[in-house]
Amino acid sequence: MRKVAIIGAGPAGIEAASILARNGIQVSLFEKSETPLKNLQDKAFLFPNFQAAQEIVDDLSGKLLADGITSVFGVEITDVRWQGTEWKLTDIKGQTYVTDSVLIATGYQVFDAHRKEELGYGIYKGVITSLDMEQMIKHGKITNANGDEPKRVTFLQCVGSRDEKSGNHYCSKICCVTAVKQAIEVRKQLPKCDSSVFYMDLRMWGQGFEEMYRTAQEKYGVSFVRGRISEAAATFDGRVQLKSEDTLMGLPLKMTTDLLVLMVGMEPSCGTKLLGKSCDVNGDYGFIKTVNPHLYDNETSRPGLFAAGTCKRPMSISDSINDARSAALAIQEYLDSLKNEN
Ligand SMILES: Cc1cc2nc3c(=O)[nH]c(=O)nc-3n(C[C@H](O)[C@H](O)[C@H](O)COP(=O)(O)OP(=O)(O)OC[C@H]3O[C@@H](n4cnc5c(N)ncnc54)[C@H](O)[C@@H]3O)c2cc1C
Ligand code: SF4
Repeated sequence: MRKVAIIGAGPAGIEAASILARNGIQVSLFEKSETPLKNLQDKAFLFPNFQAAQEIVDDLSGKLLADGITSVFGVEITDVRWQGTEWKLTDIKGQTYVTDSVLIATGYQVFDAHRKEELGYGIYKGVITSLDMEQMIKHGKITNANGDEPKRVTFLQCVGSRDEKSGNHYCSKICCVTAVKQAIEVRKQLPKCDSSVFYMDLRMWGQGFEEMYRTAQEKYGVSFVRGRISEAAATFDGRVQLKSEDTLMGLPLKMTTDLLVLMVGMEPSCGTKLLGKSCDVNGDYGFIKTVNPHLYDNETSRPGLFAAGTCKRPMSISDSINDARSAALAIQEYLDSLKNEN
């Protein structure tokens, strides 16, 4: 029986595992956390349909029960190497595993907002990230620095993406629509609270996204300001003072807000960067490089080594899952070709 090792039990890794197992391939799925889907478990409701993230977690977790999948949790893979006839994986404790093919599905981590010191994350309690906001929405407890209901929440786009200073020139693709989603949720949970989004461009590329943006304005009264926030500072009563510029009007602006939410971009996870280097398939910014973005976007330059999901670039959940399906097909074809050789 042919074998595949999948590294990362996020949406991409689990989807590929379930398809390959159904097609008679022996799957070992390695996840460094003690549970799968950690990057979905910290979300509340999902764009584009506001479905509870927990429902997707439950559905995907159910797929892990399929015959033919061995899930190994709490094991971080640190090295992947071709050794003549098979691939060898090594975990952080030095234990090794051998397999015919490997799928890297090690995903993303968010940009560390401490790196934008001028925005005050980690210094002022009223400055939080989009991940912190997901948690507040999830628990129905959106509060300001003093633990009270905020009167104004301000979202700032492109933190750590499209940004010369942080070295990330790319667009993280999902944070515009995430800000719209969260701004709507703020208005749903706190109808009296002002909710505004500062943006450079609004990238509403997916099906239903443009409609969400219109609904945010027309039904929920969210305001959108084309502008930048250059600096945040605390006020004596725990609010956050913002120095900004309305770039449409060309006017400097000063305003105070109860919460400043930094829409942090997506970067390759540590595992993605490490394995990309160890297998010599690391591309721009540390994401995994594939052979060709049109025709061979799951294949790497190393035969038998594949990649899927956000380890390649920022993607939504549905894009990661679709990408995993195409990776499963490419792996199946590769393993069939080995069978024919023997
Ligand atoms: C604030 C925020 C809100 C979002 N909201 C939405 C939304 O509403 N709708 C939507 O479609 N998308 C949303 N997303 C994006 C969504 O989280 C991703 O599209 C999705 O998680 C990508 O799945 P993945 O499998 O590629 O990677 P991940 O979910 O990152 O999974 C990768 C897995 O690999 C594991 N791993 C990493 N390295 C190793 C290693 N060396 N060994 C073993 N395991 C390893 C990780 O622990 C992780 O579990 C949001 C993202 C953010 C930041
Ligand atoms: S998706 Fe929007 S917020 Fe995110 S980097 Fe791109 S333009 Fe900026």
